[in-house]
Amino acid sequence: MKIIKLYGADWCPDCRRAKSFLADNNINFEFIDVDLDETATALVESINKGKRIIPTILVDEKSYTNPNNNILSSVFGINDVGTVQLFGADWCPDCRRAKSFLTDNNINFEFIDIESDWATKKVEEINNGKRIIPTILIDAVPYTNPDNAKLTVVLSINIEKSHKIYDTIIIGAGAAGLTTSIYAQRDRFDSLILEKSTVGGNAFLTEKIENYPGFQSISGPKLMERMEEQAVTYGAVIKTGEAVQSISKQDDIFSIKTNTNTYLSKTVVLSTGSTYRKLGIQNEKELIGSGIHYCATCDGAFYRDKDIIVIGGGNSALEEGIFLAGFCKSVKIVNRSTEFSASPTYIEKLKTIKNITTYMNQTSEEFVANEKGMFQSLNVVDNETNEKSTITADGVFIFIGLIPNTKVFENVVDLNERGFIKTKNLAETSVKGIFAAGDCREGAIAQVAAATGEGVLASYGIRNYLK
Ligand SMILES: Cc1cc2nc3c(=O)[nH]c(=O)nc-3n(C[C@H](O)[C@H](O)[C@H](O)COP(=O)(O)OP(=O)(O)OC[C@H]3O[C@@H](n4cnc5c(N)ncnc54)[C@H](O)[C@@H]3O)c2cc1C
Repeated sequence: MKIIKLYGADWCPDCRRAKSFLADNNINFEFIDVDLDETATALVESINKGKRIIPTILVDEKSYTNPNNNILSSVFGINDVGTVQLFGADWCPDCRRAKSFLTDNNINFEFIDIESDWATKKVEEINNGKRIIPTILIDAVPYTNPDNAKLTVVLSINIEKSHKIYDTIIIGAGAAGLTTSIYAQRDRFDSLILEKSTVGGNAFLTEKIENYPGFQSISGPKLMERMEEQAVTYGAVIKTGEAVQSISKQDDIFSIKTNTNTYLSKTVVLSTGSTYRKLGIQNEKELIGSGIHYCATCDGAFYRDKDIIVIGGGNSALEEGIFLAGFCKSVKIVNRSTEFSASPTYIEKLKTIKNITTYMNQTSEEFVANEKGMFQSLNVVDNETNEKSTITADGVFIFIGLIPNTKVFENVVDLNERGFIKTKNLAETSVKGIFAAGDCREGAIAQVAAATGEGVLASYGIRNYLK
């Protein structure tokens, strides 16, 4: 629990006001009378650069000097509909999405970083032992990773319908979508990007990018923040937490329905990228968040100094395995084939890392949970000898490829047998006015540089169409 200390005195009206506000809102605090405690007076003076200003309120390490009730509401997440506490972490994309949504809609919330032990325990307690964030308490009622539509309902947020017709609506704020908007805006076309999670796409989840031209090495988040900044500077509007659910067309205008609203545009760009492929073996689904993960940058921090398994043998598996080995106690890489399919650079690098062990030619058969419902071990079978064995660890990261995020476009544009969007010429799909770019497109190379190039292509398609 957070430790809240209110340094004040009985004769001070603002101290009485702050005390009643905290008490009325059921916030536990310790009152320290500065008239009776010299150390407290000295502390107040040191916080306030020599001045004796009360009330001075300490919330864990942070101090607030005579905060008014609005500031207290914001610090403790107090709203008309109740108190909102968001348990999360800065590295978690859905936490950032939920935080932006609450901020954009003027909802006070208390952000509680799960770095502290009590907060992690609280999250586990709420989610039956699972570590799922963001977990949001609204007047003590828990919501586990609620999407923006759910938050809109539970917080009674009034969303106004938009009637503006954009020149283009870009679905997905990854490298492809952001690049399209930079070019479209420079062509003086009004663009709106609808993003179901947070800005940056898959590249944002990548620790280090060493093959994007112009940068010897750059962190994924930094590169994507620069792309976002550039798009916004040119006037692009980006709405996060907007999951597109359907697209329809009437009189040359596209109507795009999301989980919260409907938007109109003259053209559409599909740049929804791709998602982690699942193994589809026993207990995989049940243990997601309880020891099974698909994103090292998102969830790796839970396994500092712990033993983990990485499943896969391609570039992502090796890159992420090497990244995890930097702070985990040990990394066991389980690969189905006799050789890695990753590039030689990663294979060579792997050999130099002492806390990585490889298990080659092993098919993953089943995940086993302990009595608390947390991942405990992985059962594998040797493809050559048929011998079964068990690999134990604290957690598992699965990196076995990607599938395109195109389900919602199934009945909108032509897809190939693997679900990738078919295109021709200037990124044109089978429907006039709809374009596709990046990892969701048939023939995509699945690299950031390629995705940005495809974004440029789509922008030329838009220009041609609108002309
Ligand atoms: C672990 C990992 C490491 C990588 N390392 C590198 C590297 O070192 N170098 C390199 O060049 N490439 C790397 N890549 C590949 C690179 O990240 C991708 O090629 C690139 O991000 C593709 O960009 P994109 O815009 O097509 O798609 P994405 O980046 O996937 O963006 C698509 C966006 O669309 C959103 N979206 C999906 N569905 C909807 C919907 N219905 N409504 C609204 N929004 C939606 C998603 O949330 C996402 O933000 C890596 C990928 C991974 C997974």
